[in-house]
Amino acid sequence: MPRPKRPQHYYDEIKDKFREQRNLRLGYRPPGTDQYTSELSGDLAKYAVDPYAKDVPTREPITDEVEVLFIGGGFSALLTSARLRERGLESIRIVERGSDVGGTWYWNRYPGAACDVVSYDYLPLLDELDYVPVNHYSRGPEIFSHCQAIAHKYNLYDLAVFNTTVTETRWDQADQLWHVKTDQGDVMRAQFVICANGTLAKPKLSAIEGMESFAGHSFHTSRWDYDYTGENLEHLRDKVVGIIGTGASAVQIVPELAKVAKEVFVFQRTPSSIDIRDDWPTDPNWARKLQPGWQHKRREKVLAAVENSLEKRAAKGATSPEEKLRKQENANIDYMMRIHRRIDEIVDDPATADALKPWYMFMCKRPCFHNEYLPSFNLPNVHLVDTQGQGITQISPQGPVFDGKEYGLDLLIYATGFEVQQTGIYNDIVGAGGVNLQDKYAQGIRTLLGIHTAGFPNLFIMGGYQASFQFNLTEMLQTQGDHIAACIDYVRANDYHVLDVKDEAEEWWVQNVIQHRGKTNRSEECTPGYYNFEGNEQRRQDGNYNGGFRQYFQHQGQVREKMEDNFHLAAREN
Ligand code: NDP
Repeated sequence: MPRPKRPQHYYDEIKDKFREQRNLRLGYRPPGTDQYTSELSGDLAKYAVDPYAKDVPTREPITDEVEVLFIGGGFSALLTSARLRERGLESIRIVERGSDVGGTWYWNRYPGAACDVVSYDYLPLLDELDYVPVNHYSRGPEIFSHCQAIAHKYNLYDLAVFNTTVTETRWDQADQLWHVKTDQGDVMRAQFVICANGTLAKPKLSAIEGMESFAGHSFHTSRWDYDYTGENLEHLRDKVVGIIGTGASAVQIVPELAKVAKEVFVFQRTPSSIDIRDDWPTDPNWARKLQPGWQHKRREKVLAAVENSLEKRAAKGATSPEEKLRKQENANIDYMMRIHRRIDEIVDDPATADALKPWYMFMCKRPCFHNEYLPSFNLPNVHLVDTQGQGITQISPQGPVFDGKEYGLDLLIYATGFEVQQTGIYNDIVGAGGVNLQDKYAQGIRTLLGIHTAGFPNLFIMGGYQASFQFNLTEMLQTQGDHIAACIDYVRANDYHVLDVKDEAEEWWVQNVIQHRGKTNRSEECTPGYYNFEGNEQRRQDGNYNGGFRQYFQHQGQVREKMEDNFHLAAREN
C-alpha cells in the first residue's frame, strides 16, 4: 500500500530536530578531533599493545634492498601484491606492525566481528583463490584466514617482516631508492614504496578526564584481551562490563556481551542507525554452479552500474535543483523514520527506545546492520546510559561518571574508533629535496588520484584522501592496486627507474576533487562524526573524491593512457 504523502512541514520539523541535535553535540565537544587522542604513550601506552603477538622472536636489523616495499599488510598490500606477482615482480616485502597479515581483520578480533558488505563482493580474489565464502556476510575469522590464504598463494610471507613499525621513509637521491627505517633498527632500501597503512588503523580514545585512574581492566575494541574475557567471554559471567561508544564496532560487540556478562552498561553519546541484516549460509547448489571468473564478472557489473541510490531515485523527475534536493532529503527522512519505527517495534521500554533513535540524515554516520543489537536492550542485564549527546567526560577509579552517578565496572571497553585516512601513521615520509609529506599537506592535500604526490617519486598511497570512497572498501582498494601494479609495470617495461607525478597532473586532480565536493550542505548539517571531520570545517581538497566510483576508475585508466604526459619518468642516474 503506498504511504500517504506527508506535508512538507512534517519533514521541515524533523530537519529542525536534526539541526538541534547536531548543535547540542557541537556545544559539548572540543572542536573537531581535539576530543580524541591517538597518541597512545605513557599511561595510555597499554591501549596500543598487540595482544595477539605472542612470543615474538628477536631478529637482527635488516639492511637489504627490495623492489617493492609495502608499509602495512592488510588488503591494500595483499591485493596490489597479487597483481604485481601476476606481472612477474619477485621482490616484494610487507612490513607490518602486527604479527601477521590481515590489517583490520588482524586487529579487530572482538566477539561478533563481521563485515557488513556482502561477502561475495567484499572478499577479494575469490576467482584466483577458488574460494566461495561460507555465508552471505563473512565473519571476522573467515576474512582473516582469507588474508592469510592470499599471502600464502602469492608467496608474501617469505620476505615479510612482522612486529615492526616503520618510523621513517626517506627518498635518497644519491642511490634513488627509498630508505625505510623501523622501530627494530632496520634501514631497508626499496625502489617503490606503497603506503598501505589502512584507512582506520590507529586506535583513538576519547580523552576523558581521569581515564588513567580507572582501577578495573580496560582495552580498546581493536586490542581485545581474550586472556581477560576468555575465548567465549566465559570469564565475564561474574563481571560488570561497560562499553563507551555505539558505532559499528560496539553494535557488533554489545549483543555478545549481553549473552554472557553479569551486567552490561552501554555509554551512548549518539545512537547509530540499525537496519536489518539479511544473512544466510551460502547455498551449496549456487556455489557449485559458479563458473570460473564469476567474481570478476560481478565486479564488472558494479563498475558498469549506474549509481541508483535511494536519493537519486527520489530526485528523478524533479524540476529544479531546490526541488531535487528537497526530494532527496525527504526520501532520506522517510528512511530514517522507518529506522525509528523498527526501534519502537523491537525495544520494549519506551524511554530506552526513544534514546536509541538516531536524529540525523541517513549516511551522516556509518549505517549499521544487526539483528541482535536492539533486542539486547530488552535483557535485564543490559542498561543503556544515554548521555544525550554529551558523552562520558569523567572516569573515576570505579568507572565512568555521568550526571552525578558513578558506574562501578570490572571491565571498561573503549569502542571509540580510529584515526581516519591518515597517510604515514607512526611514520615520517620525506620526499625528494627533504620535504616532509605532512608539511606538503599542511597547505592542503595534493595528489593525483589520491595515489601519487609530486616530489615523492616511486611512492604510492592507498586508502588516503582524494580517492573515491566506497562502502565496499576492497573494491576501491583493488582498483588502486591494479593501477599501481600497472604503473610499476610500465616503469620496468620501459627501462625507467623513477616515476614522479607532474605538477600539472596533480593540480588537475586537486581541482577535480574540489569541484566535486560540497555539492550539498549535507556534511555541514550532519551530526558530528568521522564522516564529516567531527563537524569541523575542512578545506575542500582535504577529503575524498566525490565524483563517483566509476568516474574514479575511468580517470585511473585515462591517467595510464598518457603516462609520459602525466609523469616525469627517468632511467636510473647512477
Ligand atoms: P566510530 O568512530 O564509528 O565510533 C566511535 C563511537 O564512540 C561513537 O559512537 C562516538 O560517539 C563514541 N564516543 C566517543 N567518545 C565518547 C565519549 N566520551 N562518550 C561516549 N561515547 C563516545 O568507531 P567504531 O570502531 O565503532 O567504527 C569505526 C569504523 O570501522 C566504522 O565506521 C566502520 O567503517 C568500520 N567498522 C566496520 C564494521 C563492519 O563492517 N561491520 C564493524 C566495525 C567497524 P559520537 O557518535 O557521538 O561521536
